[in-house]
Amino acid sequence: MTQAQVVIVGAGHAGFTAAASLRRNGYAGAIALITAESCLPYQRPPLSKGYLDGLREDRLSFRPEHFYERKGIELLRAYRVEEIDRTAKAVVPASGESLRYDHLILATGSTPQAARLPGNDLDGVFRLHRRADADALRERLVTAREVVIVGGGFIGLEFAAHARGRGKNVTIVEAADRLMARAVTPVMSEFFLREHVSAGSRVLLDTPVARLVGGDGSRVQGVELHDGSLVKADLVVVGVGVRANTGLAERAGLAVNDGVLVDRCLRTSDPDIFAIGDCASYPYRNRRARHECVENAVGQAHAVAGTLTSGESQPYRRTPVFWSDQADLKLQIVGDFSGSDRTEVISDPAGRSFSVNCYRDGALIAVESVNRPSDHVAARKLVDRSGCSSPAQAEGS
Ligand SMILES: Cc1cc2nc3c(=O)[nH]c(=O)nc-3n(C[C@H](O)[C@H](O)[C@H](O)COP(=O)(O)OP(=O)(O)OC[C@H]3O[C@@H](n4cnc5c(N)ncnc54)[C@H](O)[C@@H]3O)c2cc1C
Repeated sequence: MTQAQVVIVGAGHAGFTAAASLRRNGYAGAIALITAESCLPYQRPPLSKGYLDGLREDRLSFRPEHFYERKGIELLRAYRVEEIDRTAKAVVPASGESLRYDHLILATGSTPQAARLPGNDLDGVFRLHRRADADALRERLVTAREVVIVGGGFIGLEFAAHARGRGKNVTIVEAADRLMARAVTPVMSEFFLREHVSAGSRVLLDTPVARLVGGDGSRVQGVELHDGSLVKADLVVVGVGVRANTGLAERAGLAVNDGVLVDRCLRTSDPDIFAIGDCASYPYRNRRARHECVENAVGQAHAVAGTLTSGESQPYRRTPVFWSDQADLKLQIVGDFSGSDRTEVISDPAGRSFSVNCYRDGALIAVESVNRPSDHVAARKLVDRSGCSSPAQAEGS
């Protein structure tokens, strides 16, 4: 068994940033960064954006290989951790050597829920989460004509805009009564609906999918809707949300409930184990939240690196920030609109440049902006302050 003082499981935005900022903060101990994938650690947002347009593979990676050597970060690739042995303080892979830790950071991310849909394993059905998914999808899109997107969330809509821009016939099928319902206000959903429809996509709301239907050779031919009707398809992208990767934590007996439960300093129920990024459920505005966005992953990684290098627990209280590019529309969001009791639209959506301010009890809790970067920059300061979960925190921030 070998020893690393800090072991990080998962090398996405959260895990990579934790390793890099530990070194930037002057941490001198051994660091092991573990990824189940065989490629260099990479960022996911371009997979549904520039990468589909041909962004070079090496531009996806956070850093080239020599970075890890130079920084003394042991990068373990194609190493899937199967268990955490909390008594021995070690992570255990399926085969190979266990690795002992003093502090463990779980940054295991999330997994698409695509598998729930009958027929999801047919040829021509994709999800868009890993680099390998995007590579395969990029190739298949060249010959596809009828593209169906199951799920009108960010990833599905970004892909829809891309496919439509390449002249494909696009149908978006969404079970809810509006687009991006979990993440944006009804005003914003309505705006994006109009935009996708006017660009030529067909959008079916309130339309649950029953199953994906194959033809000869198990190649996808269509999407069967709940009323039995069939939408023709030779390429299907399923983007129906993700679930947190909590299996490791659960098996190790850590507290889990839709995410690994952490306190304000991102410690799990074991004080030597932290959880950050998509997999962590943390206290936010007097409730628990999992924010699936880069800003959250990076901010939480900085907080834990700060705790481990300063020896003083550093609470995490940043406001989540998210962006989405759909054709020529840049949507930027600060905060979380859920729980708002009043919204105010700034400027006219018809001009394709507007913001939606969301309030609760008179406090600004979220701002959504389309093609208005200056509103977004201002919102980052305003929402940050009112985003604290108590007036005492606001005073101290
Ligand atoms: C296509 C796409 C587009 C996106 N666009 C945006 C965007 O525009 N803006 C934005 O803010 N966010 C976006 N996101 C979300 C953002 O990428 C995530 O919130 C972010 O990647 C979370 O980082 P993470 O490190 O927590 O998890 P991940 O990036 O998911 O990384 C977790 C890693 O852990 C590894 N792992 C899991 N279990 C184990 C194990 N047992 N052993 C070893 N390794 C393991 C996984 O293989 C994975 O590589 C997008 C996501 C996708 C998929």
